[in-house]
Amino acid sequence: MHALVYTDTQTIIYREEKNPKVENGESIVKVSASGICGSDMHAYHGKDNRRIPPLILGHEISGTIDKGKFAGKKVILNPLITCGKCDYCTNGREHLCNKRIILGMNKPIEKQGGFAEYVSIPNQNIYELPKTLEINEAPIAEPTAVALHAVELGERELSKPLKNSKALIIGGGAIGLLSGLILSKVKECKEIVIVDPNNKRLEECSKYLDGEAVTPDSKNIIDNHFDIIFDSVGLEITRQQAIKKVRPGGIIIHIGLTQPSGSFDFRKATLQEITFIGTYCYTNKDFEKTLSILANKKIGRLDWIEYRKLKDGATAFKQIHDGSCSAPKIILLI
Ligand SMILES: [Zn+2]
Ligand SMILES: [Zn+2]
Repeated sequence: MHALVYTDTQTIIYREEKNPKVENGESIVKVSASGICGSDMHAYHGKDNRRIPPLILGHEISGTIDKGKFAGKKVILNPLITCGKCDYCTNGREHLCNKRIILGMNKPIEKQGGFAEYVSIPNQNIYELPKTLEINEAPIAEPTAVALHAVELGERELSKPLKNSKALIIGGGAIGLLSGLILSKVKECKEIVIVDPNNKRLEECSKYLDGEAVTPDSKNIIDNHFDIIFDSVGLEITRQQAIKKVRPGGIIIHIGLTQPSGSFDFRKATLQEITFIGTYCYTNKDFEKTLSILANKKIGRLDWIEYRKLKDGATAFKQIHDGSCSAPKIILLI
């Protein structure tokens, strides 16, 4: 089969690879569409110790079952593979299973990803594609589930409804925009500010998101003002911005994985009772709920997705890397 292979830091090659083998309890999916995620970019930059080259990246996948239990069915994949037996798995928090792996990773266990014509996946990770969802758009379900999980973790901790809360979103990539769309269109939050240094990205976001799209130096990002802040970037500087802008008693939801440590105003966090919540992936329930949100068109048009061919994937990676692509999401079509 043809596949995009990550072979070295900032090197992606389109080449011939072995087809995945059929394993017990798994199916082979003929991939239709596969989204490029921030974590794929992280790997591309040589900064992910769970993704070591050579490796086929990609975990936001839709396609048709080629071999296996549901052969011929159009499907969307939940790429988070868990043990199904541990305390987390049996209590609806599968995403914290310590045996979890994601497609397109090879440490500790190898599971080749979806930037290829075929991919293998356990049967319990396969969901039938809702009829009203386009197969090429469907990979957006995975990052949407990440955003939904983040928003609902925050919603649970807030002392007032999201509807009446002021939200700041740091980062105008897919997770930032999707968090904004869920806040606005699903949770009816009315005061949303989204911040990103890239003006082209902000322009894209403001076409779809009912909120203010601004650069980090904007006066509209008022200090001690926001009830809830989503850091979809995860840099030292974005965490510092979050703690500065959050109001007393407010919440910071930390999603991004860009920089693992750095200085932070713990004094304000303590004196002003700031809740800091780390959030990772989604539960199986979140994934199912996301499919229903997308099937019912609840987050509006998805025209902000840009499509490229799998064989042109290397250029897409390069353009995301150098900032010349303003689309919050690129999906590769196979
Ligand atoms: Zn992803
Ligand atoms: Zn488990």
